[in-house]
Amino acid sequence: MNKTTTVIIGAGQSGLAMSQQLTQRSIDHVLLERGDIANSWRTERWDSLRLLTPNWQSRLPGFRYDGPDPDGYMDMPEVIRFLDGYGRHVQAPVETHTSVEAVRRTDSGYRVETDRGTWLCRTLVAASGACNIAGVPKIADQVPHGIDCITPMQYRNPGQLADGRVLVVGASATGMQLAREIRQSGRDVILAAGEHVRVPRVYRGRDIKWWMDRCGLLDLRYDEVDDIRRARRVPSLQLAGTHDRADLDINALAETGIEVVGRLAGARDNTLLFSGALGNICALADLKMNRLLDTIDAWIEDNGMTGEVDAKHRFDPTRIAASPRLEIDLASSGIKSIVWATGYRPDHSWLDVPVFDRKGRIVHDGGVTGSPGLYVMGLPFLRRRKSSLIDGAADDARDLADHLQAFLADRSLAA
Ligand SMILES: Cc1cc2nc3c(=O)[nH]c(=O)nc-3n(C[C@H](O)[C@H](O)[C@H](O)COP(=O)(O)OP(=O)(O)OC[C@H]3O[C@@H](n4cnc5c(N)ncnc54)[C@H](O)[C@@H]3O)c2cc1C
Repeated sequence: MNKTTTVIIGAGQSGLAMSQQLTQRSIDHVLLERGDIANSWRTERWDSLRLLTPNWQSRLPGFRYDGPDPDGYMDMPEVIRFLDGYGRHVQAPVETHTSVEAVRRTDSGYRVETDRGTWLCRTLVAASGACNIAGVPKIADQVPHGIDCITPMQYRNPGQLADGRVLVVGASATGMQLAREIRQSGRDVILAAGEHVRVPRVYRGRDIKWWMDRCGLLDLRYDEVDDIRRARRVPSLQLAGTHDRADLDINALAETGIEVVGRLAGARDNTLLFSGALGNICALADLKMNRLLDTIDAWIEDNGMTGEVDAKHRFDPTRIAASPRLEIDLASSGIKSIVWATGYRPDHSWLDVPVFDRKGRIVHDGGVTGSPGLYVMGLPFLRRRKSSLIDGAADDARDLADHLQAFLADRSLAA
């Protein structure tokens, strides 16, 4: 039986940032990681993926990208090297290849069962990721046999897909990137687009992430938002990190010959049914993009930067076909594969502590759960808009480590 003050589950950026913060506070801890450091980036991403956040935005407590290309976008080997380097830099006490199988409460904290023994601890941080499972809608059950279904967690490159037309469901960063790559491989692609967030890669000469950072949009706190449940469900931005900094919007994809249809709404026999609201959805995405650009323009004005950056401008509205198809017959359409780019969710199935809501999501207040000494990290909008990004780990780890330290101090006084 092993004992420590804090067990951190997961050695991605969230767990490593928390480790650095606990070390700074001299809190004894261990990280339990089922793979190696950066396991999600090593094993669950497709071959061509690059970060959509620029290199300068890869910054963690006491560590940041300091290479020659701050405005570039890391590929997966670079992300893995970056996080490995961070783990070494902060001397994170990681037990690799140790899978947590169950966590239960004890009188004095938590009992953590792994495939390599048991740990007892007073406090526990679940930093096991927000994207452990691909979220696939129920409609998938109705897809007839003979059509290959694949999720982004299984997808590596277009060579995996059966010959024939491909339907990509989902128009967030993942769906858009995969649709473009599959189209570039020479296949016919149909993209089913529901609610999405359109942004340009570059505005007034700077990366959109630079503006969002400067304007403080990424620092927006969870307790400043009117509807935090909704904010936590907002899809990822339509962005990709490419050398040419090209936009990744519906106009760009349509120009490459991708057919865009509405949200996949259902299936009847062999027929897929798509929403007729594509026009409205795209108009709303354009409106929201323009609101973001208005915010940036106002910030530039207020900060006297007008003369230093390119002129204000607006992008073409999203163009959609006059009447996008509402139905596709799978037998005659030539569709042989469906890529379910319909989101991700965490896997906390090992957590045997009553902190879940009816839908199985951990209930927390900015990462602090109702179970004393139990924390969660890395979830969308956990404490800030940037919480699930590499750049969000530092502030969240600091805040939660403060809370954890105070909790331990209180308990020592009581003991
Ligand atoms: C496709 C994709 C692209 C992304 N692109 C960007 C980007 O460009 N920029 C950006 O800032 N963010 C990006 N993100 C978001 C975010 O940075 C990543 O999801 C990141 O991996 C989250 O880090 P994390 O430490 O919170 O979780 P993870 O990196 O998922 O780390 C969790 C760790 O916990 C381990 N673990 C899980 N369960 C157990 C268990 N039971 N026992 C032991 N270990 C366990 C896992 O092996 C993993 O190593 C992207 C996410 C995805 C899915």
